[in-house]
Amino acid sequence: MVQDCDNSEKNGMVLVPQTRGYEASRARYFNPEESGRFPAEIHAVQTLTDVIKALKRAQELGVTVGVRSGGHTPSKPSLVDKGVLIDMSQLNRQVSYDPQSQEVCFGPGVRVYEAWKATDAIGRFFPFGHAPDVGLGGFCLAGGQGFFMRGWGVTITNWIVKLEIVVPDGRVVIASRTQNKDLFWAARGAGQAFFGVVTRIWSRTIPKKKMFGRTLLFEVKEQYEDLLSFAFHCDDKMTKDFTEAAVCTFHDELLQADVAYERVPPSSPLRLLINASAYADDLSEANAMLSSWDQIPENIKGCLMQSTPVSKVDWEDFFKLQEKFNPQGPDRKWGINSILNDIAVPRSEMISAIKPAMCNLPTVSSYGCIYMSDLLNPDEEDAVFSLPQQYYISTFTGWKDPSLQPEIHETMLTSYQKAESVACGMYIADFNQTPSCSHSPSVSGNRIWPYSSFRESNRVFDQLPVWTESARAKFMKIREEWDLQGLFSGYKAFSGPMKGRNK
Ligand SMILES: Cc1cc2nc3c(=O)[nH]c(=O)nc-3n(C[C@H](O)[C@H](O)[C@H](O)COP(=O)(O)OP(=O)(O)OC[C@H]3O[C@@H](n4cnc5c(N)ncnc54)[C@H](O)[C@@H]3O)c2cc1C
Repeated sequence: MVQDCDNSEKNGMVLVPQTRGYEASRARYFNPEESGRFPAEIHAVQTLTDVIKALKRAQELGVTVGVRSGGHTPSKPSLVDKGVLIDMSQLNRQVSYDPQSQEVCFGPGVRVYEAWKATDAIGRFFPFGHAPDVGLGGFCLAGGQGFFMRGWGVTITNWIVKLEIVVPDGRVVIASRTQNKDLFWAARGAGQAFFGVVTRIWSRTIPKKKMFGRTLLFEVKEQYEDLLSFAFHCDDKMTKDFTEAAVCTFHDELLQADVAYERVPPSSPLRLLINASAYADDLSEANAMLSSWDQIPENIKGCLMQSTPVSKVDWEDFFKLQEKFNPQGPDRKWGINSILNDIAVPRSEMISAIKPAMCNLPTVSSYGCIYMSDLLNPDEEDAVFSLPQQYYISTFTGWKDPSLQPEIHETMLTSYQKAESVACGMYIADFNQTPSCSHSPSVSGNRIWPYSSFRESNRVFDQLPVWTESARAKFMKIREEWDLQGLFSGYKAFSGPMKGRNK
């Protein structure tokens, strides 16, 4: 069974600057913020042969390669200045299902929404991500914080069984736990550091169930600490399998249309929304799975604005809500800062250190998000994905007016300097490795340094690790074996030992 997700015309082509289509393709990213980076050629590939040709062409030109699937990473690591950008959005943009193996096979350009639609139609499920537009290529390489991961971990470890990869010398190889094992190990969690082009992905599936959810909406007032303690406590008590919870902080304007201002007015109260979900067969099962959220303690009752009972969630509505949190448009700019907490740090200390990241939102389109991943012991033997992800703590910053950038970046610098004191590292998808140049922001760690004066002020931060030090060393060795020439340069940002708690 094959579901084709792509209705657009199929026409693989090579685009060069100043020709029709180049600029539109260069701009096709979730974050439209100008980067000042111009690939020498953009190869919009349709076939494996196109991919092989693109790699060969980069070698002829003596330049590096960037690969874009969904283009959702705000820092746009695939947009290689003067290099070759390979656009994967049309290659194998379909989901096929093999009833015998019960595996789905899909191309890297398939979006989360398309993966849901295709698997739902055949009564199957695998854990894709939450934002409908995220491409599964980048999602899987980063690790994949897919649905209900607190029970089964990230998508690449328990679900993805095989990858088809065009390696730097132009060969098409299969990587799995039995074939090219080193490549399979290195691909899963490599994110933008990966050194090949993933062209097809195979995942296990399970029979689909129904999604149920409940929400609790609070006004934060002076009770940020109590509210977060409550959320973590209920998450601890919630059954592990087929459940998840996320906390979101925001101002009301985030979900209102046509708000004329961008800065947060002092009078705008901060909200905290808890969304708990269960993947179950029926309502009574879901109620039992989410019962840890039933009792609201006395000390936060005064903050409670709304509590919805457990009810069935319509997937279309779920994805529409995600879009409301991250509306897209040519003038909508986005940034992400995030950490993964160090599980050795006492919870109260962690809650206090992440307070600015959660509460000090620089614009009305920004929001704080804690995804309770509850992954404590990733298996480094199995994949380069090796840091614990108990809580993914992030701030999504959104803005339109370019003059707000310095202020936003300054706020994030301050907030995340504090948050990083309780971090073990960060999710590689959020790592900003934008090369510094005179016209574009410069970077230290996951922070953008918007102006040269910031650099001159000599404020240098540690770079948070994205893997353990031993996984990093093993990755670099494998990378060198497959890509001696450094055709894929994303690894460079991670090539020196990283500082911080996770040595
Ligand atoms: C609003 C929002 C919501 C998000 N929600 C989630 C979520 O629920 N779960 C989660 O895990 N992440 C989430 N993310 C992060 C997102 O998954 C990652 O940024 C992911 O890498 C995006 O994949 P992409 O293919 O769309 O991006 P791209 O920018 O196309 O890819 C990111 C990088 O991956 C590499 N790459 C991509 N495709 C290939 C390929 N085929 N071959 C080789 N290398 C490739 C490239 O180096 C590329 O620069 C979210 C991000 C945003 C902005």
